[in-house]
Amino acid sequence: MDPAVEAWLPTLDEARSALEGTVVGEGIFRKGVDLGAIKPSEVYPLAAVLLVGRALVRERWTQELDLSRHAMEAMEREAPAPQDYTEQTFRCLRRVVLGPSRCTNCPARPGLGPCTQCAGTGYRSAETPCSACQGGFALCAVCDGTAVSLKVSVEYLRDVVAPLGRVFLPRLPGALKSALARDFDPGLRLPDALLLSLERPRLESAYRGPSRVRAPDFHGHAFEGAFESSLEAQEAFREAPGVRLSETRAWAWPLLWLRYNARGAWWDVAAYRDRQGTLRTTLAEGVG
Ligand SMILES: [Zn+2]
Ligand SMILES: [Zn+2]
Repeated sequence: MDPAVEAWLPTLDEARSALEGTVVGEGIFRKGVDLGAIKPSEVYPLAAVLLVGRALVRERWTQELDLSRHAMEAMEREAPAPQDYTEQTFRCLRRVVLGPSRCTNCPARPGLGPCTQCAGTGYRSAETPCSACQGGFALCAVCDGTAVSLKVSVEYLRDVVAPLGRVFLPRLPGALKSALARDFDPGLRLPDALLLSLERPRLESAYRGPSRVRAPDFHGHAFEGAFESSLEAQEAFREAPGVRLSETRAWAWPLLWLRYNARGAWWDVAAYRDRQGTLRTTLAEGVG
């Protein structure tokens, strides 16, 4: 096995020494049990999946605009296909709704519309006249002073980056799973040694008998549903409406599930490594 992988697999010995001092089942009239001092009844090597990624989503909406013929002719007809994860906005001419007509933005003085700097008041403040216009009138912003405008339908396209960060836990008892969901941070980045190829398992043809699909595992750590769930989430992310580019990475997050029977109750422990490689344990009272 790759030593870098081996270094990340939690071992039973480490889990047991990490549990030293973890006392359970303590009551008013009875002493508790130190989990580090007893052996677990059951040990299961499992693995969660950390899935992170990003997608470039192209949002679209249309709007009608009044503008000059010159502005219409200068407008793009097609937006370029997204090349990278740059967030930007484009607008494209879709169709002419109403042909050349008398501009409605400058009815009083054809070609001169309300000044956009001072909202047509002619003043910046009570005493300061606006320097961009004369008495509130400036070159009409809609028709560029031609007094003729067109109404067109414009499509706006906005490229936005959507992030993905999720942890998929294997099948575990409810209380332990809830506790782990708080401890497994989807914002983490795990080492490359734990990178996982999230692909549908191929059919393996057996020497005899029907073909079968081998359940994916990570060096003996079973995913118990986490692989399938993350695979589905990855597909849903890549195929979401408007997604034009996407990239995802997945890591296996190995853990040991230990079951202890102490003082007539069951205790579930998960042992795993954090980002620094330090062994951590999460404890939850189990159901027999
Ligand atoms: Zn002005
Ligand atoms: Zn005008």
